[in-house]
Amino acid sequence: MGLCLSAPPPANAENDTELKHFHQELAAEAAAVLRAMDSSDSSDDGSHVANEESDAVEAELAVTSPLLRPDRADQKYKEVIDDAVAACADYTAGQICYICKEAVTEETNEGLVSGFCACRGDLSFAHVSCLARQAQVVAERTFDRWHTCRQCEQEYHGVVSCALGWACWKTYVGRPEADPARGMAMTLLGNGLSSAQRHEDALSVRLADLATRRRIGADSEENMLIVQGNLAGSYGHLGRHEQALRVWKEVYSGRLELNGVEHENTLMAANNYASSFISLERFEEAWSLLRKTIAVARRVLGENHELTLKTRVIYVMTRYADNNATLDDLREAATMLEELERTARRVFGGEHPLTSHIEISLRAMGAVLATQETPPPPPGNA
Ligand SMILES: [Zn+2]
Ligand SMILES: [Zn+2]
Repeated sequence: MGLCLSAPPPANAENDTELKHFHQELAAEAAAVLRAMDSSDSSDDGSHVANEESDAVEAELAVTSPLLRPDRADQKYKEVIDDAVAACADYTAGQICYICKEAVTEETNEGLVSGFCACRGDLSFAHVSCLARQAQVVAERTFDRWHTCRQCEQEYHGVVSCALGWACWKTYVGRPEADPARGMAMTLLGNGLSSAQRHEDALSVRLADLATRRRIGADSEENMLIVQGNLAGSYGHLGRHEQALRVWKEVYSGRLELNGVEHENTLMAANNYASSFISLERFEEAWSLLRKTIAVARRVLGENHELTLKTRVIYVMTRYADNNATLDDLREAATMLEELERTARRVFGGEHPLTSHIEISLRAMGAVLATQETPPPPPGNA
């Protein structure tokens, strides 16, 4: 998961409109970083979310996604394999599948995909159907092969994870609704769609997933919080931040109850909740939550833990993103970022994504500060 704090400063930063736009971009990027950090937020401040909004979300939950109709699974699977093969075509010419050792499958004329995990060389080419068969064979023992490469142990991503999501869903859609494999397949499909940036489709699968699990009522609280977090993430990706806020608030409360205030999952949940406040430009609430999170993270995880540092970076960046930030605020933020950069460099090294993103942010901040600060009058020149 990469941080993304790299908005370049506008060409003409003293222009109010452009500066405001830059602030908004930074706020959006800070929110994206928090989303990538995975989890929700805290506390007492969800009370102003209107009831009708929660009613609307509940109504949406009741709708089963037409995408998931059993009679559509085959067709969707074929479409998405065609897309994945086409997307990989530049890299797969002249290669063979590491599983079946063929270039093209005999029965279906299916082409190869590549670049779906960390594997390189001969092991990086396969047919989606071969990966799916491999996953299916061991599924009674482990579901992992549906989402994680057995060679490099990295999760599949992008169009190939989406294709495997459909392959998995196609395999288990005929099972009874309460069969755990069917539930896992629906979650996996949502993850694959999200990884392939198909967020509208992912959202409808997430809604159906949560609605189904609530109806059956057999899941652990841990699973329900994961599925709710997935849903909130999809809302966030689609810019539906009010809904994301509402669900992250529930996840955060659930984490507090299940894991307690000091658990890493709870702290990550707090950050995700804060990201929704940031996206809605409700900075005071975001800061309050981030301050609490930082205090606990410092005490429990320590000053040098990645989560502590990331949360502090987000806090500083959102102070910078606030349109009401004064010049003094910005200077203070820059000083804090410099300190964080030194710590990140010492703990993780200069190549670590956190270190390089702090550097980029510092440069952007420095450029804006330079245009905001009144230059001294030129000496002795009337
Ligand atoms: Zn094959
Ligand atoms: Zn691999």
